[in-house]
Amino acid sequence: MLKIALPNKGRLSEEVRELFNDAGLEVRGRGERALTASLGGEFEAIFVRAQDIPEFVADGAAQAGVTGWDLVNEAGRELELLMDLEFGRCRLVVAARDESGIARVEDVKDGMRVASCFPRLTQAFFQKRGQRVTVVPVSGAAEIAPHLGIADIVVDLTSTGSTLKMNGLREVSTVLESSARLVAYSGNGVDARRSLEELTQALGSVLAARGRRYLMANVPRTSLEQVREVLPGLNGPTVVDVMDGGNFVAVHAVVSSRTIYRTVNALKALGGQGILVTRIERLMA
Ligand code: AMP
Repeated sequence: MLKIALPNKGRLSEEVRELFNDAGLEVRGRGERALTASLGGEFEAIFVRAQDIPEFVADGAAQAGVTGWDLVNEAGRELELLMDLEFGRCRLVVAARDESGIARVEDVKDGMRVASCFPRLTQAFFQKRGQRVTVVPVSGAAEIAPHLGIADIVVDLTSTGSTLKMNGLREVSTVLESSARLVAYSGNGVDARRSLEELTQALGSVLAARGRRYLMANVPRTSLEQVREVLPGLNGPTVVDVMDGGNFVAVHAVVSSRTIYRTVNALKALGGQGILVTRIERLMA
């Protein structure tokens, strides 16, 4: 059995579960408080706090895990990065009170106090810049530290920026860009590596499918050249004869979901009919 450490709660847990479900690795028979669950095949999930996952995986207690890149870097342990899962996007930023007079990170003075749940990354960031600050480690809600007089500035996670704004804080620099990542134990053997390669491909095929749609349309044979420009597809569209005497052909293609509205309109303008757009479950290029 291969153990995969997954977040048991918090922001990442739902999306991780959804991704594994979509890849056909459904969490089976897990009660609310269960610590482990079968994912089918050779995989078993162990549910732990997102912060603890880098340690679990680095120690080999799990062969792989999913957690935030911020937490992987803060742990500073040796881990193999297998894949960027693209959700849970956020940035670790330096932020100061609006009225602090700190508009740029250069304005941070030696001796200032920086509250953060990421003390290692904070220390390393300022050290590299040659700024001697005092890091105040906190375990949550760093954003209130400046208001309590515990710190002058914070290094905190943000995605929309609304929490910072609500607390009267202004972002002055980015320390790290983060998203959920699949990481592996660096001491895995050949068999585990092979299984994890298959897992990576399965998860990747779900992610690749998410931003795409399968489009089918009947188009006049005479407009095929222009249709080809509208529908680049993976290797150009598939063209199939329609039994209507040869005036129309059916074209099938994988298209970007972001531009589907424009694509459909372009096809209509070229005389396209019977246009059908469907979701794709998995896509292996
Ligand atoms: P949490 O569920 O709050 O313990 O956060 C777990 C992980 O979710 C963090 O370490 C980040 O990798 C990620 N995350 C994504 N967006 C945010 C955000 N806006 N604030 C905090 N964490 C976030």
